[in-house]
Amino acid sequence: MPPLVDTFGRLHDNLRISVTDRCNIRCFYCMPEHEVRFVPRAEILSFEEIERFARVAATLGVSKLRVTGGEPLLRKDLATLLAMLGRVPGIRDLALTTNGLLLAEQAEALYAAGLRRVNVHLDTLDRERFRQITRRDELGRVLAGIHACRRLGFGPIKINAVAVKGLVEPDIVPLARFGREHGFEIRFIEFMPLDAQGLWQRDKVLLAGDIVAMLEREIGPLEEIPDRDPRAPALEYRFADGAGRIGFIASVSRPFCLNCNRIRLTADGWVRTCLLSDRVGMDVKKAFRDGARGEELVEIFREAIRLKPPSHDLAPSGNGNGFIRTMCQIGG
Ligand code: SAM
Ligand code: SF4
Repeated sequence: MPPLVDTFGRLHDNLRISVTDRCNIRCFYCMPEHEVRFVPRAEILSFEEIERFARVAATLGVSKLRVTGGEPLLRKDLATLLAMLGRVPGIRDLALTTNGLLLAEQAEALYAAGLRRVNVHLDTLDRERFRQITRRDELGRVLAGIHACRRLGFGPIKINAVAVKGLVEPDIVPLARFGREHGFEIRFIEFMPLDAQGLWQRDKVLLAGDIVAMLEREIGPLEEIPDRDPRAPALEYRFADGAGRIGFIASVSRPFCLNCNRIRLTADGWVRTCLLSDRVGMDVKKAFRDGARGEELVEIFREAIRLKPPSHDLAPSGNGNGFIRTMCQIGG
């Protein structure tokens, strides 16, 4: 079947699947502290629906899947879903993004299900700042989860850190040293306007360029990694002494829309083709539950891709917030 190429020539082979909008912590840039309104359980896609969707995607050339949320490990028996997805013909790359709290207890089952690639979200190694950011005192469990993965032989293990200016500057160098010591790539993600409380402002984004300067000053020279996939969204560097890699998702300072290869499936069954645009989306859950099969599902994909905008809706200047869905409601 012809692959998913949009009006702007972008090939879509990367699907991010959110399995829940719930979470066991409350990062301020993603969720409100109180009165979180979750999607009713009946609206959440079942494992069978997710697998069916992945199968259709794979026939259209999707070869990479990432399971995310909300916090995906809150979904009962997630390892079972990962094993199902790993068996979908055409899927070559399966990964998980998690906050790590439940990793220590689930890592073995996830490994047995065939998962190897894991991104763990960790902004700081400082217990008090962790509590301040996530509104929970759970740093110890996240570290235990990361180390459990390392012991079991997961790889690559990447650490996702959200770069918020005026808050995480003291964490940048310790995180990079932590990565160098244990062989984890640290990925700094520029703070995006997908928080629940409208706190985002352009001047609260700690930019990739500033982080590079800080790391070079405190640790040593960084060099861009040659031969990286030009369609991958992360800018990737390594320390010139060979110890440690640093990546950046610089959605604000260096948007990668021109090369975007991503499709998202939200936990409540919407296809989204852009994280930072509320204009586009297709309700695939309704189609499933109305009995759509084969060609009809393919058409939903094709229509979603046809409607994908050339670039995201974040204005090049100003504090243009106002996105309707927050990060945990889309799936980061
Ligand atoms: N709960 C898991 C976690 O935290 O990794 C998976 C879902 S979370 C929405 C996925 C990623 O989104 C997180 O790793 C975090 O780094 C990132 N994230 C959340 N809110 C963000 C924001 N406002 N700007 C940039 N990145 C954000
Ligand atoms: Fe939960 Fe992940 Fe959002 Fe933090 S970023 S509140 S861990 S879903």
